[in-house]
Amino acid sequence: MPDRSQRNRLLILALNGGGAGMWGEAQKALPMPALHALMQRGISGSLGTYLPTLDAPNWASFYTGVNPAKHHVQAFTRLRPSGRPGPMPHQVGLPLPTFASQLAQAGRRLISVFAPFIAPQGLANGVIVRDRPSSDGGPLTHPAGLQPQLERELGLLHPPHSMQSFPAQGLPDAGAVNAFLASQEQSLRHTHDIAAYLMTRFDWDVSLVHLYAMDTVQHALWHYLDPSHPGFRQDPVVEASLGRLSAVADDVVQNLVNLAQPAAVLVFSTHTFGPCVKVLNIERFLAERAARSAFGNGGLMRRLMRRSSGENMSFMSEHKVIYVHSAKVNEADRQRLTAELEDLRDPDSGAAVVNKVWTGVDLYGSANSDAVYQTWILDLARGYSARSGAPESPLLWSMTPGKDYLSGTHRQNGFWIWSDPALGASQVQPARIIDLAPTILSYLGLAPQEPMEGTALLRQFVTPQVSQGSY
Ligand SMILES: [Zn+2]
Repeated sequence: MPDRSQRNRLLILALNGGGAGMWGEAQKALPMPALHALMQRGISGSLGTYLPTLDAPNWASFYTGVNPAKHHVQAFTRLRPSGRPGPMPHQVGLPLPTFASQLAQAGRRLISVFAPFIAPQGLANGVIVRDRPSSDGGPLTHPAGLQPQLERELGLLHPPHSMQSFPAQGLPDAGAVNAFLASQEQSLRHTHDIAAYLMTRFDWDVSLVHLYAMDTVQHALWHYLDPSHPGFRQDPVVEASLGRLSAVADDVVQNLVNLAQPAAVLVFSTHTFGPCVKVLNIERFLAERAARSAFGNGGLMRRLMRRSSGENMSFMSEHKVIYVHSAKVNEADRQRLTAELEDLRDPDSGAAVVNKVWTGVDLYGSANSDAVYQTWILDLARGYSARSGAPESPLLWSMTPGKDYLSGTHRQNGFWIWSDPALGASQVQPARIIDLAPTILSYLGLAPQEPMEGTALLRQFVTPQVSQGSY
């Protein structure tokens, strides 16, 4: 067992979407006593995150400490200098430095379990279990020999992903819901077992563990958690199962904290949840509204269908983001389309679907002025999400609770907890996601490198000290 006594070690738990129903809007809270105990011994509060409310741009800001215009991940892909969507960040990595690359440079060791975008480049001394295979079909782990070792000990590696175990026929009854929740429970335990195995066999300074399943559960079952959901259902059997899952997640948190002691613990989520009643189909909107304009000459549909990033399409979309060709779509059309998006009304309720269409420049304050493509980022109204559907599919899809996966959708802003017995009583302090990388580095006695722009939040830890307290 490596000697732990001489330095601070940090356990980072990414609790994707928060505890089931704990931090969403108008939710039924499920008890997570271990998580509450962490809050009682440290700082916690809301975590300012970026629009769009997608994981990828916010995780990229978590690692790099800069906003999406600077790390170039505004939806799922990393933008090329032209502003066109390019490869996924897990294939090409993120611009350096990240807090992880800085740790490696300083000789500190990172264990990472199922965290996105973490790849061995620049982290040769790290121990990594990736959240998806690399594009060249390489092993899921670094070092490569770790995968067979883990699989001998713990069974096949199953990186968690969205919609995991959500059946094609949906979750029509309590039995189906229970089976679904049982598979999420397994996913949490699997993640725990891998993290526990690595943390007890390797020397480490920072362990980053992504507990993904809570996100999947809240997407699929938000109508059991949020009384303000129009399809809200009460079912004591499902409620008991959700309570059990929440207890398992809490147990995982507690066990990993016990293993890491007496290190500090950072818990964070890049988003919370709200209801999802309908999904805006962006490609249908563009096919309808953009085709009416002078530049949509019948070729638009074909351009929309050809999604290769190498082509000079007028528009491309990725879920809640639209890329608009600056030369092919003139200013008047851009203004018209923006206004039409903001004027969209749900025919059933009369409610607005889109609060505001932001440009990347307006949101993030900087942009590449030579970029061929401008980014539009949708701030969706409560109850709505957006996807790049087929142009011939409806403009607004109704999401039927129990049948469709999106019963809940991400809402902007997450939460953070920095727990360390040395901090004493609980304090509330809001933070921004870009503050976390400098905070982590400062805690470990490292100066955040340029161009990290967040603030190190724990000034008392600028000089590292060994915690006296204990979990
Ligand atoms: Zn999600």
